[in-house]
Amino acid sequence: MLRGATDGSTPSTLFIDGKWQPAASAESRTIINPADGSTVGTVSEAGEEDTIRAIEAARKSFDSGVWSSVPAMARGKLLLKVADIIRERKDTFAAAESADTGKRLEESQADMDDIAGAFDYFGTLASHEAGRVVDPGNPDVRSRVDAEPVGVCALITPWNYPLLQVSWKVAPALAAGNSFVLKQAELTPHTAMMLLSILKEAGLPDGVGNLITGAGASCGNPLSQHPDVDMVSFTGGLVTGRLIAKNAAESVKRTALELGGKNPNVIFADANFDAAVDNAMSAAFFHSGQVCSAGSRIVVEESIHDKFVEEFTKRTAKIKVGGPVDSVAETGPLISEEHREKIVAYVEKAKEQGAKITTGGRIPTAEDNQGDHGTGETDLTAGVYYLPTILDECTQDMDCVHDEAFGPVVTIETFSTEDEAVAIANDTEYGLAGAVWTSDAGTAERVARKLRHGTVWINDFHPYLPQAEWGGMKQSGNGRELGPTGLAEYQEHKHVYTNLSPAVTGQFKG
Ligand code: NAD
Repeated sequence: MLRGATDGSTPSTLFIDGKWQPAASAESRTIINPADGSTVGTVSEAGEEDTIRAIEAARKSFDSGVWSSVPAMARGKLLLKVADIIRERKDTFAAAESADTGKRLEESQADMDDIAGAFDYFGTLASHEAGRVVDPGNPDVRSRVDAEPVGVCALITPWNYPLLQVSWKVAPALAAGNSFVLKQAELTPHTAMMLLSILKEAGLPDGVGNLITGAGASCGNPLSQHPDVDMVSFTGGLVTGRLIAKNAAESVKRTALELGGKNPNVIFADANFDAAVDNAMSAAFFHSGQVCSAGSRIVVEESIHDKFVEEFTKRTAKIKVGGPVDSVAETGPLISEEHREKIVAYVEKAKEQGAKITTGGRIPTAEDNQGDHGTGETDLTAGVYYLPTILDECTQDMDCVHDEAFGPVVTIETFSTEDEAVAIANDTEYGLAGAVWTSDAGTAERVARKLRHGTVWINDFHPYLPQAEWGGMKQSGNGRELGPTGLAEYQEHKHVYTNLSPAVTGQFKG
């Protein structure tokens, strides 16, 4: 397994122009497993100088044509090879992902299947989306639209699904023929390092794929401002996204922004009750709610509110919490102490504004190890845990129904009519995802059509497909990942118009 230094030596985890190297400053960062506080490894802490070197390497490789001129089918073949290697080494990749994030090993393993699937999808799509011939309506003209790579892409990704988010950018960027500089979230660098290593092993020419490990504050500006960067594709929080969009606007770079969400889960009284309760739990508490599309805002029909809250609370109060290899745990820790502090503050504010906690609402203590959330295998005081939390009696004037907690906290509001349900579900600056639960096909279709969210689930929550576009409306971002549009994001479309019978037009008489 490729790891940063663990012996106190200067780590060399920046991959620039085909070589592993240390940060120019020789600075490093220690990566901590949030499940138990153990040290995972030490990685290079890149700064501006390293970032610029990576951008220059990407520029040089792009302009040389070493990858951008390779036929699309050959590019696709390399991606398919990468998918095979990830599948072969799935366990090693999953272990590294769980060590950085603390997430359950089972979840990391499932993520690796999805990641290989993303490389498969874009590897196959590469040769099918190379352009199209247009009927010009004139036999003396030939017209075609070529799909060309955009150029140098800065890819900036978050820590919640480290390699999955990377794969949604790296696979289409390479399929389209771009060079890239990847800046993985500073807390979770290891699987990105492993990916860069296998891209080289699969035959990607030096300089095409570059990785910097470092903080956004020190690497971010060159990535969004440097004149040699043609596109910035970012997944992360709204505040960072706004800053990147502003920076990138200076030189009119193409941007693709996948930002946060406050995703409504609308439950009608006629829904399959048990399925709705069960899925509301996984919607809100899977990966401890650190999911951009988490169903963090339940909007339930007034007539079933009490019954729903009773059952939802009863089951949530028993969710087992623990570390990656805990055989009983159903969900894991938060990414960091700093992140947990934000969730504590979010819940405190909700309480002050009138929300009623029906379960959770606190950091676990030693007593919880033996309680309903305990597993007998994990010490809940050793890692960064927070108990699954339900905030009931929420109303639209409270901040908790608008702000993204990005943790195991869900709010509950009620509605009485279909129009009211839609109005509440759309009353957010975000527009990433939402769900509607009902047994009435008409209600389902009407509500799904009216929801201003990029993904809508009917009687389900969370599934996505590599073939279907993923992304947000409103302030959840712009652009789409996955699906044919996910490849088009990384392509320039050039119209080539050929006059087969050039002649004097006679327009100007002089
Ligand atoms: P974040 O915005 O703090 O960081 C994301 C990335 O941006 C990291 O790599 C970080 O180092 C970098 N960054 C920070 N400041 C920067 C700057 N000034 N310039 C350039 N890069 C900078 O977000 P996070 O805490 O890592 O992730 C959580 C957020 O990501 C949540 O809001 C979540 O909803 C969102 N998210 C969205 C999706 C989606 O598909 N829409 C998927 C996953 C996560």
